[in-house]
Amino acid sequence: MNKRIFAGILGLVITASCVFIEDAKGYAWLECKSSDDPYTWDGKYIKWYAGTNSFKSGSSRRTALVRALGRWNQAPGGFTYSDSVYWNDTSVSRTNKNTEVWFSNTLASGSATCYTDYYCLGNKEYIKKADIVFDNAVSWSYTTNQFSKEATFINSYTGNVYGGSRRSFVTTALHEMGHALGLLHENRRLNIMGQDMSHLHANAGKIRAYVGEDAVNGEIYLYGMTGNILKEDLSVSHWKFWKKGGTDNEYSLHILTKMYYVNSGNVVSGNWAEEIGVDGLGVRLYKVKKGTSYKVQFTYENNGYYDLSGVKVGFYISSNNNITTMDYRFDSRTFTLTRDRPFTKKLTLTIPSNMTVLGQTFPLTVGQIYWLGVIVDYKNSILEFSEDNNAAYLAIKIIP
Ligand SMILES: [Zn+2]
Repeated sequence: MNKRIFAGILGLVITASCVFIEDAKGYAWLECKSSDDPYTWDGKYIKWYAGTNSFKSGSSRRTALVRALGRWNQAPGGFTYSDSVYWNDTSVSRTNKNTEVWFSNTLASGSATCYTDYYCLGNKEYIKKADIVFDNAVSWSYTTNQFSKEATFINSYTGNVYGGSRRSFVTTALHEMGHALGLLHENRRLNIMGQDMSHLHANAGKIRAYVGEDAVNGEIYLYGMTGNILKEDLSVSHWKFWKKGGTDNEYSLHILTKMYYVNSGNVVSGNWAEEIGVDGLGVRLYKVKKGTSYKVQFTYENNGYYDLSGVKVGFYISSNNNITTMDYRFDSRTFTLTRDRPFTKKLTLTIPSNMTVLGQTFPLTVGQIYWLGVIVDYKNSILEFSEDNNAAYLAIKIIP
């Protein structure tokens, strides 16, 4: 995992040691011991200088880095990562004044590291420079949005999810960029500043990295509100917080959300879908009966600026893993989603006996696999940074 290193203190040094502050808002930031103010960038802005040999023109590395910058700029805090990266940096160094990103063969530990220089000046604390260094020896996936046999996530706790065996560059970059703007690790809830590789959206055969509610909340605390006219983003995923983990216990670990029996509370029996050849995915296939109720769990997030009430959440049965409003909606709820922390919730839902698609009604077939989908804001009444993270699913198989 990523190791935070505070190297080099520039400017006027008031304090030699820093403390890590975590509050109930669910994020952490760096703070001078002598002050209540966290460290921030004075200009609320970073222009990155990218190593010319590390991010060559036309390379998948460059595309993936731009994707990660774009994701942070979709967050509704007042910090901006410049879209205009300087790509021809031939002198990457910890000692120059530029904020840089590069690949190295000599990274001491971890897959990537953000080195942050900071200083206290008077009553204010500033970040002076941040450098992100990725380890060349890691087997990276630069995939930006596709399920792929080569890409994304190995979850040693739940099995191989999405069939991948390589580390996602984009989720790692989002995590390190969170450090660069002043966030620290968080180990109490689902978030990108924990185990970034398992902080994803998945729908329609695509994975999508994102900043997420917890880190968004941290960015807003540090930098206020975005100047972008868009300020809202809702999302739902089939990932949840699991426990504190990592070598130094600073990282949250995440696992897939589940289905439970209503009476016993036990996890519904099933198999890993990958083992029985469903779409090559490592998601669990739950064995369920028509007309029977189960507790169905997903994680809902408000990644936007304002608290939202009256959010319509629909539940669907789909014959594939592409959940859309064209699928059969068999139930719905109305949520209030405040911006504070991800909301992992079990809801009691009854598996329907039939599904209606394009005006025609079919019985669900015993022995067949379906996807139990969820869509937040299914009436599309909220203008969002992204509409690509509004759906998620669990896989089910109908049993007699
Ligand atoms: Zn980190």
